[in-house]
Amino acid sequence: ANRMAERGADVVKYLMKQGDMLKINDVLDADTAQVIAEDFGHTVKRVAESDVEFDFIKDDDPVDESKQKPRAPVIAIMGHVDHGKTSLLDALRTTDVAGGEAGGITQHIGAYQLQLKTGAKITVLDTPGHAAFSAMRTRGAQAVDIVILVVAADDGVKPQTIESIKHARAADTPIIVAVNKMDTYEADATKVETDLLQHEIITESMSGETQSIHVSAKKKTGLDELTEAITLQAELMDLKANPTRDADGMVIESKIEKGRGPVATLLVKRGTLKRGDIVVAGQYWGKVKAMMDERGKQMKLAGPSAAVELMGFDGAPTPGEPFAVVETEQKAREITEYRERQLKKAATVAPSALASMEAMMAKLQDKTMSEMPVLVKGDVQGSVEAIKSSVEGLGNDEVRARVIHGAAGAISESDIMLAKASDAPVLAFNVRPNRQAKDLAEREGVEIRYYSIIYDLIDDVKGVLSGMLEPER
Ligand code: GDP
Repeated sequence: ANRMAERGADVVKYLMKQGDMLKINDVLDADTAQVIAEDFGHTVKRVAESDVEFDFIKDDDPVDESKQKPRAPVIAIMGHVDHGKTSLLDALRTTDVAGGEAGGITQHIGAYQLQLKTGAKITVLDTPGHAAFSAMRTRGAQAVDIVILVVAADDGVKPQTIESIKHARAADTPIIVAVNKMDTYEADATKVETDLLQHEIITESMSGETQSIHVSAKKKTGLDELTEAITLQAELMDLKANPTRDADGMVIESKIEKGRGPVATLLVKRGTLKRGDIVVAGQYWGKVKAMMDERGKQMKLAGPSAAVELMGFDGAPTPGEPFAVVETEQKAREITEYRERQLKKAATVAPSALASMEAMMAKLQDKTMSEMPVLVKGDVQGSVEAIKSSVEGLGNDEVRARVIHGAAGAISESDIMLAKASDAPVLAFNVRPNRQAKDLAEREGVEIRYYSIIYDLIDDVKGVLSGMLEPER
């Protein structure tokens, strides 16, 4: 009524004539609203609420080559437990020459940037392992340019080495091998490089193209060679970004700190983040009041590949969430309020989401459950078998995952009933439910999670189980 400049009472009267006994505050569906507006002589243009997102996801400036400037590579360190990921992260810090009297890298903000003797820069993600790496890959966005695969020379290729390779490959991210612990008596780099052949990593020493650098994180040897290898790889990749546009990128860490409120670390992918910018990430937004780097230094600007810690968000955005600068506070509010509503809607669709991964996690933590049931559906029998055996191998004596049913083919109503009966989520690999099954799942609060990469599926299950396990120290 308002938008048509009609009195509300007239619209109610009109509806009554049609036999609809509605009150002035009742909500109409879009189709009815359209009919009314047209009957009152107005032209209707339908806009989706989700249109607010369209302006938000501004695509790359019609890629203007002249604005593209070289940027530092972003690296992540992966590898088997105890092979020296953390030690290497620490050792690499010593190759930084920017510290000077200002002091070195002192804060853990989720990433640090090295300034090398050669003048080149490298941004290092400070959280080792593939959980972080996976989080950085949500929604197809790619935060990591190069993976450093750490393999201990005295231990060789191990299960998590192989997993790391698969993660890197799934993300299409090039690998540089760092054969670590070369100071040990048992070190055998050739064995490592030979073993890697089986996983299709052909190092230069084996006449392939993957660089393999021999290092000792403990004795701090081989580090210059490693940083040189990274710089070389980055040059090959010709990494560039436009520093002159509004910034966007990804949240890499966030927390709520006493006295400081929400603190988030952002990795800028393109553009330059400035003080006073208005930033949106997920359902939160904030005005950039202060930015700090890993040296605890205040920054006015943060360009491509820089990581900065930011205060001023109205909540802690999830790592892996993309962020972007928007023009006005009004715009930021529109987007975040829209997202908030979407989240609420999603939450009310399945009010008793008993069979969700979240609910499962809570139960596992409560120790009311020691086994996590899941139902697996896949496109072909082969992938179902592969998922079954991987998933059942997860966990430990205290808690493990159990596949209550695994089969190839679309998700049916009977699958949903089975899942419901066992309080199990449905893990769908390259398959979808039919209409009836989808409706049933919504009604019954059975969660269906979709995957197209096996490792993502396994990672998710592992994530739930690890809530129960002792944290890795
Ligand atoms: P992560 O689990 O991969 O992060 O491995 P850590 O960095 O925690 O290292 C595991 C163990 O290996 C620690 O006891 C380190 O001191 C040791 N370590 C790491 N790098 C080296 C190295 O180059 N040489 C030797 N001898 N020990 C190392």
